[in-house]
Amino acid sequence: MEQILNYIGGKLCAPTTGSFMNNINPATGAAYSQVADSDAADVAQAVIAAKGSFQAWSKMSLQNRAAVLMKIADLIDRDSDQLALAESIDQGKPVKLAKAVDIPRASANMRFFATASMHFASDSHLMEGEAINYTTRTPVGVVGCISPWNLPLYLFTWKIAPALAAGCSVVAKPSELTPMTAFLFSKLCIEAGLPDGVLNIVHGLGNKVGQAIIEHPEITAISFTGGTVTGKTIAATAAPMFKKLSLELGGKNPNIVFADCDFEKAVSTSIQSSFSNQGEICLCGSRILVERSLYDKFVSEFVNRTRELLVGDPLEEKTRVGALVSESHMNKVLGYIELAKQEGGKILCGGSRVKIEGRCEQGYFVAPTVIVGLDQNCRTNQEEIFGPVVTIMPFDSEEEAIGYANSNAYGLSATVWTENLTRAHRVAHQIKSGIIWVNCWLLRDLRTPFGGMKQSGVGREGGWEALRFFTEAKNVCIKL
Ligand code: NDP
Repeated sequence: MEQILNYIGGKLCAPTTGSFMNNINPATGAAYSQVADSDAADVAQAVIAAKGSFQAWSKMSLQNRAAVLMKIADLIDRDSDQLALAESIDQGKPVKLAKAVDIPRASANMRFFATASMHFASDSHLMEGEAINYTTRTPVGVVGCISPWNLPLYLFTWKIAPALAAGCSVVAKPSELTPMTAFLFSKLCIEAGLPDGVLNIVHGLGNKVGQAIIEHPEITAISFTGGTVTGKTIAATAAPMFKKLSLELGGKNPNIVFADCDFEKAVSTSIQSSFSNQGEICLCGSRILVERSLYDKFVSEFVNRTRELLVGDPLEEKTRVGALVSESHMNKVLGYIELAKQEGGKILCGGSRVKIEGRCEQGYFVAPTVIVGLDQNCRTNQEEIFGPVVTIMPFDSEEEAIGYANSNAYGLSATVWTENLTRAHRVAHQIKSGIIWVNCWLLRDLRTPFGGMKQSGVGREGGWEALRFFTEAKNVCIKL
């Protein structure tokens, strides 16, 4: 079976213990490769390699640094079909989605930060007649980047691209559930001529490799995307060490549909924002709130279209909903569906595991599920399920919709459907979320800050925010 190796000091290598774990294809339930089960010793080696490369990388001209990152982006594009296939097999997502979204976005991340770094200006402030202040920004040093399993290469590159572009050296850990594209990526880095040690990828478990990255005293900044509970553990360890922290965490996002919306667009996009990637996107709108006068019509149409979604083999082009990432995650999602029933919810469609004939009969498939009749404050409406499960609730006024939207510990994203421009601005302004979509979903200019409010995270990524995060500011004040 193929072995997924670490990438340390420019070389592909087995973990020091020699241990590997099975890497499961969630669509079949069978192991198809093995991933390095690394530990703190491998992280220590990666930090030594990263430190060794830092001086030269951080002093390299911006143009030359950018050229290497652009070369990596070109190689991602060249190998996009192979990467999409690997992403689909590792994660369970339809290969069509990986081709259309995940892989193009991975190369776009590399290109965006490669070019952005060349336009990143420092400030100067004149104190009239007294002094000139100027600010310089220098790379923080060796940084840790930890990414989740839901959008493997997309989120991995979203973290490492700004770090590398800013001149940092990186020790990165992808989720051990979906390590294949990061492994293929390490081969592309070698081919592109990325200097040895600038990027180090250590595969393995969160509580071993992840924790060792967080605890390592010479890693000065941590960029993490994952669950809120893990984020708390990371903050508890890293904050007393005064590390810079960027935490992108969970969401339980409201999707608010007013009666004056464009009905067709609201329904069709809500199907996507509910069930894309099996609902395993932190930005999915899992709480649909519909104005009462439109409620029956919306529910009926939404349920009809949900039933039409084809659940099946992720490698089939016609599949719309693939497998959940692991058996334990599938059981967690099914557990939430049982909880919803206990809380008084009515399942209008889905609600159970789906058995697929043929090679996928042991796969972890769950039917897209629509639940109504629940109270806003129940656990089903408060906790992140992270699967193909949505609830729909009616509301009677704009104030009530905003109240429901905000009555949750999370604040990652929200969607608003209305043709009334004034209402769109008014509602967007009052919802406590890092991003609000009006009459669209998942659109975003990479120059904008990205991140969550409340328990959805600390810090902002994207655009200058990410380049600022990986640099340290120093002010020089010169007396005139
Ligand atoms: P986890 O928090 O379980 O894991 C994220 C990463 O952290 C994994 O690589 C994991 O390794 C690692 N990890 C786990 N424990 C530790 C630790 N103690 N120290 C350091 N690293 C650790 O999240 P999931 O992978 O389950 O991803 C799903 C979550 O991510 C959802 O809550 C989702 O909302 C959130 N997310 C947020 C996004 C955002 O932009 N805000 C975007 C995408 C997802 P291992 O896999 O071995 O456990």
